[in-house]
Amino acid sequence: MYVDVHAHLIHPAFEGEEDAIAERARAAGLDWVIVNGLEPVSNRRVLELCERHEGLLPALGIYPVDAIARDIARSGWTHDHPAPEPFDTDAEIAFIDANAHRIIAVGECGLDRYWVAEHAAEQERVFEGLCDVAMRHDLPVIIHTRKAERRSLEILQALGVQKADFHCFGGKLDLARKAAEAGYYLSIPPVVERADSFQRIAARLPLDRLLTETDCPYMGPDRGERNEPANVPRGVAAMARARDISEDAMASAIRENFRRLFGR
Ligand SMILES: [Zn+2]
Repeated sequence: MYVDVHAHLIHPAFEGEEDAIAERARAAGLDWVIVNGLEPVSNRRVLELCERHEGLLPALGIYPVDAIARDIARSGWTHDHPAPEPFDTDAEIAFIDANAHRIIAVGECGLDRYWVAEHAAEQERVFEGLCDVAMRHDLPVIIHTRKAERRSLEILQALGVQKADFHCFGGKLDLARKAAEAGYYLSIPPVVERADSFQRIAARLPLDRLLTETDCPYMGPDRGERNEPANVPRGVAAMARARDISEDAMASAIRENFRRLFGR
């Protein structure tokens, strides 16, 4: 009955344990886990992993920081993810396009002006290219946006994107509301247990716009501990408390939202 729309099971933190984590997710009651790719290497590994597990669904994308990899000096890299190898972003967009029939969504992708304040034009170009792929194949877009929430929303609306989920939305509540009013979804990670900002989104947004994710290995409920999809029920419980409704009502609303957006 639970869903995770944003997991990074292809990550050094899970190396060699991917299958065990998929099993634990199933045992914890998750129907579906969407495994998100970030760049060429993880995108291909996402496809391989999801082929081995019925409950894992692949999403392919280009992380906004990777989207400008060819423009940045690797010595200046300060991100949590390993420094990406420079790659041809247009060739990767074409790869995602060619594999669109195999995936549940395009993502993650978006705009990030926290890690990289410059190169905005190149980020936007790649983001728009991926939105175009998603729209041509009628797929949802899973969006990462940091310090660029308003601009991301503008781009989606200008392009006429209908189906989108904002993962780990860190913008202001009024922007979250605007995203919901535009028909987009917001997915909330298990860190909601101890994060007021996510509790506010869970409490104040319409119930039919909320989804759950993990962003694992990050954003877990226990400080300093590795997160994984099996933690989704704890996130749902915290969201239910924030809204003052039952866990069952919260879980089934989220499950229904997933069905509406992803068709599963
Ligand atoms: Zn992510």
